[in-house]
Amino acid sequence: MEERQLRPRIAIVCGQNSALATEHLWLKRAYQEPIVRAGGLPLLIGYLPDALCQQAVTQSDAVLLTGGEDVDPLRYGAYPQRGLGSVDPKRDATELAVVRAALAQGKPLLAICRGIQVLNVALGGTLYQDLPRERPGTLLHSQTAPRWAASHPVSIAPESLLARLIGADPYPVNSFHHQSCRSLGEGLVVTATAPDGVVEAIELPGRPVLGVQWHPEDMAADDPRAQALFDGWVAGFSR
Ligand code: MN
Repeated sequence: MEERQLRPRIAIVCGQNSALATEHLWLKRAYQEPIVRAGGLPLLIGYLPDALCQQAVTQSDAVLLTGGEDVDPLRYGAYPQRGLGSVDPKRDATELAVVRAALAQGKPLLAICRGIQVLNVALGGTLYQDLPRERPGTLLHSQTAPRWAASHPVSIAPESLLARLIGADPYPVNSFHHQSCRSLGEGLVVTATAPDGVVEAIELPGRPVLGVQWHPEDMAADDPRAQALFDGWVAGFSR
């Protein structure tokens, strides 16, 4: 089957499978499926030097950042505290370079889970290294229910990119994070919060840059609003 119309190219930075003895790049398959359904062409990129991160962004129409390890606290001027999970400095380097290139080039960016944290840190923000230790009393944000199952609602700012994509009604999301945004990076605004006040989405107003703390890719097969997020985001910059 031939497709004549060129699809928008979505660069996705892979992670590393640290469970294997040798270094393997990997990507959870669920990330590419909602993008394919939305009419995009996922292009996977590995760990690259800064100059090639810039080229990868130049040759893509948009960038997707995915979930994974904790960002190295040294990247936001903090020291590792008890409760910090595993870090991957090489992935930090690649993804921070990709985010800076995307922002400099005005490319649309969707940043999921770890991605929202990378986006915030790239703009000078900080993170809670471990919510249960640093913000006792918050909800359980590391759910044990299945990936596709929602576990807490978020409230969405009406005048936001997120609201344009999925509407501003309260939205039940899944939750697989033990960290969250603390102070916000330059220019960022919060556009979704959990009932306990934990930041669940951030944006750069007026720009196609959105970070979400939940995992829409794991809900998109069953939840029309999760798929709508990808549909609207990809449709916003069709070639
Ligand atoms: Mn959550």
